[in-house]
Amino acid sequence: MLGRRRGLRLMKALAAAVIVGALSLGAPTSAAAAGDYTLPFHDPEVGLSYGVDRDRAVGSQLDWTGQKWKDTAYHWGRVYDQHSGIDYPMALQSAVAAARDGTVLDVEEGFGTTAFGSYGNFVRIGHADGVETLYYHLAYDGALVSIGAQIQAGQTIGRSGCSGICYGAHLHFQVSQATSSGVRIVDPMAERWWTTWPGRVPFLGAYVRESNAATEVIRQYTTVTHWVEFRNLGGRSWWRDRSGARGLLGTWLPANRSSQFRAIDWPSASVPTWLDAVSVPPDGTGRFTFGLRAAVATGSYSEAFNLRIDPLYWFDAASLGNFYIPITVITNQIE
Ligand SMILES: [Zn+2]
Repeated sequence: MLGRRRGLRLMKALAAAVIVGALSLGAPTSAAAAGDYTLPFHDPEVGLSYGVDRDRAVGSQLDWTGQKWKDTAYHWGRVYDQHSGIDYPMALQSAVAAARDGTVLDVEEGFGTTAFGSYGNFVRIGHADGVETLYYHLAYDGALVSIGAQIQAGQTIGRSGCSGICYGAHLHFQVSQATSSGVRIVDPMAERWWTTWPGRVPFLGAYVRESNAATEVIRQYTTVTHWVEFRNLGGRSWWRDRSGARGLLGTWLPANRSSQFRAIDWPSASVPTWLDAVSVPPDGTGRFTFGLRAAVATGSYSEAFNLRIDPLYWFDAASLGNFYIPITVITNQIE
């Protein structure tokens, strides 16, 4: 119990730090986001180094906040001259995620992870409306998808690196749109193409509460109903069915083990339940309700679970408070 409570408190502090950090980037307004894009990675602590230069002229820069510079200097957190994407510093071999559903158009992964040169490794994805996203500077052998593959938003598609013209490991994320007058570089920050403002990683959650945070006492051969709630802090909605990213509880420690407490309502021995609601949008709270049936010897047990977006992503168990249910099974005999 102590472990779980300490984990939850730490998570609250972390979540607050992430939100404060994001807002302090200087969002000019709080206007609602308009697009269907999330940040192209899973780690919520990754920050921005340089955004898109929306002024294509040399020596003239316009950043995502609307500020202009008549120079060619590097402006950390904002822009550098002629930059065509958004740079996110991250450790080598970090997971890179698709910003939106699409189809893989092109892949290159033959250059060395930190080999400096004119060309680097990348994955390029085409989306339904003709917009393309590019994930550049990947590691050697760092493309995890093949040309023609259908990609789901939030899917891990590559591993980061520093191939190509790269001064320090980072991901260069670029969005481009074909127009009648040529290819237009999009700034998803300035144009609010994120699903939320500011942009978020696809999948992130935090523990809220459960039906019984103390020990569940269950009589042998009977079932109790338990529920747990998690807040959706990511940029993607969670879904009950396969209309979108499907949220479910899975057994944990180890993942996908068969549980001894499976009740009749479980979809499988390692999945207690899908999400209760049809969908839970960003900032919403999702409840997961399921039975726990005690068909085991009397005694004390601990059942660990984790939240998962099937089949794309297991949540960071620590961020969900290392969710587990202490159980005491007692005899069913009438004294
Ligand atoms: Zn870049």
